[in-house]
Amino acid sequence: MNTTSTVDTAQRARAVIPGGVNSGQRSLPDWPDLVVTQAQGARIVDGEGRSYTDYHAAFGPPLLGHNAPEVTAAVAAAGQRLDLCGVGVSSYEVELAETLAELVPSIEKVLLTSTGSEATFHALRLARAVTGRRLVVKFQGCYHGWHDSVSLNVISSPDRIGSPDPISAGILPEVLAATLVLPFNDVNAVHRAFAEHGDDIAAVILEPVPHNIGCVLPDQEFLSTLRRETERHGSVLVFDEVITGFRHALGGWQEISGITPDLTTLGKAIANGYPLGALGGRADLMEEFSSNPGSPVFFAGTYNGHPAIVSAALATLRILRTAPVHDHVFRLGDRIRTGLAEVMADVGVPAVVTGYGSVFVTYFMEGAPPRSYDDLLRNDAALFVGYRQRLREHGIFELPLNLKRSHVSYAHTDADVDALLEGTRAAVQRAR
Ligand code: PLP
Repeated sequence: MNTTSTVDTAQRARAVIPGGVNSGQRSLPDWPDLVVTQAQGARIVDGEGRSYTDYHAAFGPPLLGHNAPEVTAAVAAAGQRLDLCGVGVSSYEVELAETLAELVPSIEKVLLTSTGSEATFHALRLARAVTGRRLVVKFQGCYHGWHDSVSLNVISSPDRIGSPDPISAGILPEVLAATLVLPFNDVNAVHRAFAEHGDDIAAVILEPVPHNIGCVLPDQEFLSTLRRETERHGSVLVFDEVITGFRHALGGWQEISGITPDLTTLGKAIANGYPLGALGGRADLMEEFSSNPGSPVFFAGTYNGHPAIVSAALATLRILRTAPVHDHVFRLGDRIRTGLAEVMADVGVPAVVTGYGSVFVTYFMEGAPPRSYDDLLRNDAALFVGYRQRLREHGIFELPLNLKRSHVSYAHTDADVDALLEGTRAAVQRAR
């Protein structure tokens, strides 16, 4: 039962906020009156005071857990000293840029944005400017933000795969036509695209692990083919590490794979939930931005490099470098994947439990882990969503939307994992 105040807040929201929420995919069809009132560590609390162990994690940022005390304190301390001045640079920004250049293999120079979408937008505009070319290559299932060049072919129905499938109305057809969409992990498709269009490909952009459809691990040969073909044809290779950056390794997937892109976009876990994105890479490319006087590629943003937000990132990265965060989340992630697979086998529900490190996802299908979006068409979407809806009855929150990944944080414990496995046993049997 919803309390009057929760329903009231949600109704007031719908009266003045389109759909009652401030971003697509935040409103749940089966829980339209959800109001969140607290978030701390591994828990979120709803408007009726019910607490949930949170594996949604706001689509990924709070790797340290919600409201990590050191991060919150760093934000407050910076705010006492300095707020936005919009001129010159602060020592916070310099320290963060130096840290990113030290940690991320491809980054020689870096610029800060407020969001991941801005970072990918600027990456592609820069690539088009420096190459003088038109086309961008992206992959079916990858999401790179809300802007026109990449707002297509994320989660597509079977009949839309292989043709432009915009995620929004209002995009010019000629903009859609300037993005080629290829299947992930398909080396031959990459060779064909470069053979046909190589001289007109400005950039190839990818999530090195497409986490916007759960978890599809990249073949090493696929990544090295992208590196070779972009180099051969003078195209810019962009790793969108907005999810993989810092979460999977301090240097992102490029550190893990040993494949160094030309440009890298970062966001989410970089500041544990505060709004920060970054675009970095080869110095000769980055110098083309107009933050460098006389350079032609316009770059601006009122809030870029906000001292309080940058302080959140500095505190986050300090903890990631000094505390055993990755050891902890990787160990719990392994426990979860192994445990969930055992539960599913035990109750006789066909499932593929996969993920990497702190990320996990259970697809309800037979066979091997997916290698491309096409493989995920076999996933039983109704069971995927229904299982997660049922988990709420056990005080566990995973986003009940098809193909969404879940995350474990430094604040989760072994007891939380035990509860997830136990809750799963009951929830999946009720949902099937
Ligand atoms: N790139 C990836 C891989 C993402 O997952 C997202 C957001 O989910 C973005 C870019 C866009 O970031 P933001 O929502 O901060 O604009």
